[in-house]
Amino acid sequence: MADVLTGTGIGRGIAVGGVLRMPDPLPEPTDTPSALTPDAEKERARASLAATAAIIRHRGERAGGSAKDVLEAQAFMAEDPTLIDDIGTRLDSGKTAERAVFEAFASFRDLLVSMGGYMGERATDLDDVSQRVVAHLSGVPAPGVPDPEHPFVLVARDLAPADTALLDLSKVLALVTSDGGPTSHTAILAREKSIVAIVGVTDALALADGTEIVVDAATGTVTVAPSAEERAAAEAKAAGIKAARSSATGPGALADGTLVPLLANLGSADGAADALEKGAEGVGLFRTEFLFLDSSSAPTVEEQKAQYKRLLEAFAGKKVVVRALDAGADKPLSFLNDAPEENPALGLRGLRALRANEPILRDQLAALAAAEAETDADVWVMAPMVSTVEETRYFTALAREVGLKTAGVMVEVPSSALLADRILADADFASIGTNDLTQYTLAADRLLGSVASFQDPWHPAVLKLVGEVGKAGRATGKPVGICGEAAADPLLAVVLVGLGATTLSMSPSALADVRAELSRFTLDEAQHFAELALSANSAVEARGAVTTAAASK
Ligand code: PEP
Ligand code: MG
Repeated sequence: MADVLTGTGIGRGIAVGGVLRMPDPLPEPTDTPSALTPDAEKERARASLAATAAIIRHRGERAGGSAKDVLEAQAFMAEDPTLIDDIGTRLDSGKTAERAVFEAFASFRDLLVSMGGYMGERATDLDDVSQRVVAHLSGVPAPGVPDPEHPFVLVARDLAPADTALLDLSKVLALVTSDGGPTSHTAILAREKSIVAIVGVTDALALADGTEIVVDAATGTVTVAPSAEERAAAEAKAAGIKAARSSATGPGALADGTLVPLLANLGSADGAADALEKGAEGVGLFRTEFLFLDSSSAPTVEEQKAQYKRLLEAFAGKKVVVRALDAGADKPLSFLNDAPEENPALGLRGLRALRANEPILRDQLAALAAAEAETDADVWVMAPMVSTVEETRYFTALAREVGLKTAGVMVEVPSSALLADRILADADFASIGTNDLTQYTLAADRLLGSVASFQDPWHPAVLKLVGEVGKAGRATGKPVGICGEAAADPLLAVVLVGLGATTLSMSPSALADVRAELSRFTLDEAQHFAELALSANSAVEARGAVTTAAASK
C-alpha cells in the first residue's frame, strides 16, 4: 500500500501526475563585503538584470492576453535606470551584486508602498523581479510558479494571487498545498477554474519533485507512489466523473426529483454567457461592488442602470438576485468607506455603510428598478451584512418604496440566522453568505492565513445556523438560498439542501459537479447527511462522517 496524506479536497475531481514543488522564497542575501571589484560586480548585476528581463518578456509572449501586459511591465522594472543607478552606487561601496540588487529593489518597494493605491499594489511585482534577479546571480531556480514544458501537480505552501494569475492551466493537473483552508485563495481559484485541489495537506512539502501521486479531492487524499492497481482505479474514477458531468444536464434536482435551482455568482455581466453555457438557471448573487472597486466617486444612476440592464438582458425570463453594494473590510469602496477603522470586518460595512450614505443606496435601488422596467428578468434585491430585524425592515421598505417587488436580506451574521423567523416575516427571501457567516461564527478573519483553518463552512456551528434559517424558511414558506463558497462544494451542497436550502448559487465552473452530486441523493438522504454533520464535533468530523456515508451508497 502506498503512503496516503490527507487534507481538505476542493470539489470532486481526481488526477494522477508527477510532483513539482514551488521553489521556496530565497533567503535575504548577507551583507558581507564583496571579494570582487565594483566593476566586476557591476558586470554580474548588468548581466543578471538583462537576462531576467529577457526571461520575463519571453514568458509574457508565451502567456499572451492580459498576462503579457503584466509581464512586460515587470520586465521594464528590471531595466529601470533609476534602480540600476542605485544598484551601481551600492556596488561602489563594496557590496555584492546580490546584496545591492536586494537593497535597491527593497528601497524602491518601500517608496511604492508609501505611495499607496495602484503603485503600492505593484510592490509584490517588484519583489518578484528582485527575487528572480538574485536567483539568477546565485545560480538557483527562480522562485514563483514553475513553468516546465510538461504537465505536473503543483505542490506549494499556498498560492498568492500573483502566482495564480500566471498559472498555465493547460499544464497544471492538480494543486496540493500544505497551508490554506477551503476559502483560501488557492481553493477559490481551484473552484473557479475546476482544478483538482487539496489544501491543508500538512506534509505536502516533504514530497520530492517527480514523485507520482494520485490527488483525490472527493476523499481529500494524496496517494504517494501509487501501485499499478491504485493508478488504474484513479484513472477509472476520473473517467467516471467526466461522464457523470457531461450526462448531468438540465435543472438542478435531487434523485427523487426535488428541484434545487442552481444559480451563478457573478461580479459583472461579462460572465453571463459563460454562466448560461454552464447551465446556470439564473443569478443567485450579483456582486455589484465589483463593478465599482476602482471608482473614486459614487457611480451615477445612469452608469449603474446600463450595467444592470446588460446583466438582466442576458438572463431574460430568469431570476436575478442583485446585492446592494457590499462595501468595507475585504471589499473597500473609497466613496463609501472613508474613515479608517481598527476592525473593518466589524465596522461600518455592508448595509451599515449604505445606511450611513442613504442617497447612494437610493440611487442604486432606483437604477435597478429602472433597469428592471426595461427588461423581463425576475429581479430580486438583497442587502449585505444585515444583523438585525430593524435593518431588515429598513431595507425591504426602502426597496419596495422604490418599486422593487422582491426584497430580501443576506444572512451572514449569526444574529440574523438566530432570528431568521422574524427576519423572514419581513423579507421576501434570505440568502446565506457562508463565507462571512463562517468568519463571524468562528471569529476568524477570512483574509488572515494564520486563522484559515477556522474558515471551514463544514463546521457544525455554521451548519446549525444554516439549519435555523432553513427551518424559518419552511415555516414561513419563503425561499432560502446559499451564495457563499460552501454551495460550490458538491457534498456540502447536498448537506445544505438537507438543512433547508431551496437554491444554491456558486461560481459557474462549480455548477456541473454540484448538479451531478445532487442527482445522486434523495431529500431523505440529504436530511440524514445534515443530521450526521450537525452531530459532529468539528468541521473535519462532519466532512468525514458525510463522506463515509455518501461513499457507502
Ligand atoms: C459570503 O459572505 O458568503 C458572500 C457570498 O459574500 P462575499 O463573499 O461577497 O462577502
Ligand atoms: Mg459576504
